[in-house]
Amino acid sequence: MDQITAKVERGGRVTRDEALVLYRTAPPALLGRLADRVRERKHPDRIVTYIIDRNVNYTNVCVARCRFCAFYRPVGSGDGYVLGFDELFRKIDETIAVGGGQLLLQGGHNPDLPLAWYEDLFRAIKARYPDFRLHALSPPEVIHLSRLSQLPVPEVLERLIGAGLDSVPGGGAEILVDRVRRELHCYGKATADEWLDVMRHAHRKGLRTTATMMYGTVETDEERLEHLLRLRALQDETGGFTAFIAWSYQPEHTELAGAEATGLEYLRTLALARVVLDNFDNLQASWVTQGGKVGQLSLAYGANDMGSVMLEENVVRAAGASYCMDEIEIVRNIEDAGFTAKRRNMHYELLGDPVFRERDVPRMLELATARADGDGGTPEELANYEARSRAGKQLRVIRR
Ligand code: SF4
Repeated sequence: MDQITAKVERGGRVTRDEALVLYRTAPPALLGRLADRVRERKHPDRIVTYIIDRNVNYTNVCVARCRFCAFYRPVGSGDGYVLGFDELFRKIDETIAVGGGQLLLQGGHNPDLPLAWYEDLFRAIKARYPDFRLHALSPPEVIHLSRLSQLPVPEVLERLIGAGLDSVPGGGAEILVDRVRRELHCYGKATADEWLDVMRHAHRKGLRTTATMMYGTVETDEERLEHLLRLRALQDETGGFTAFIAWSYQPEHTELAGAEATGLEYLRTLALARVVLDNFDNLQASWVTQGGKVGQLSLAYGANDMGSVMLEENVVRAAGASYCMDEIEIVRNIEDAGFTAKRRNMHYELLGDPVFRERDVPRMLELATARADGDGGTPEELANYEARSRAGKQLRVIRR
């Protein structure tokens, strides 16, 4: 342990075996200290960043049916929705009003939304809001579009970039080990290699992306570590990841069920990631799954970013967690922990001081949802796009 500790403190890279020893046997305070040392080396200015954006889920209809997911609805479900272009414009207006400049746009694998729908949506957003950024479509969504359109992944990315895609979020990684993916029923949506390959292509095309890990389902410690090592290897190859985000599995209303990992397990996993991912500049605190208090503690366990003010959240809430922190609350947590709070963009470039200190912004008492309860309308423009499912085809006929 002393040798490993000294190596990390010197800035050395830990091996697989050393990382496992640390994770399994280092006391939490030591693991936190080592992670904090790595954080300090990368961010000696004691700045902790956050972004003002909105997590929008454009559809909850999904054919993947992951066992850990409480958000999706099967094709034909009465609770299934697709957001209209106008609804998305309204959400962007609300985001801009509180100082935001991007959407994190992700959704289910809906067989009734062809590639042209995404291209038209992105173009319409960019035409209306030229400076607004789209951090959109995780690797499994890109693979879904590749299968749906029968086009290779690089071509799908090319088309999406041409329409306005700015960056790819690292969702859908779960644990990048195929044994785990098979058990979670997410092997079909993307194998570990396929997920990494989308990111490789995106990086080669000049996009920066994030990487995530959802832990706490059926994986072993070794498999969590394997996930981190695979990300480290790709980052060595491309340097395209801006940040890493870990969150714990949220079991409520899921098919898999089970129990949620504790706060200490989160902090240990975050600290391990900070030590192992020595080639990642930024680690986010996942306050949306851990709550504000553990989110704040993350800043002592390797995190240097508080993620997003978010404004809206649907996926984690469906699985039982509904934490809300607006900009004022995020800044209070950062400053109370002894750091300086700064706004950033998707590339982690500093934008400035908190907006709320410059002008009044409405306080959020809770995060918005994709749609208000009882709003079950179908967007008009859907009639312009070919549907693959029987339910989707019927809906098009009714609208025409
Ligand atoms: S996690 Fe994503 S891909 Fe899996 S079922 Fe949920 S919405 Fe679909």
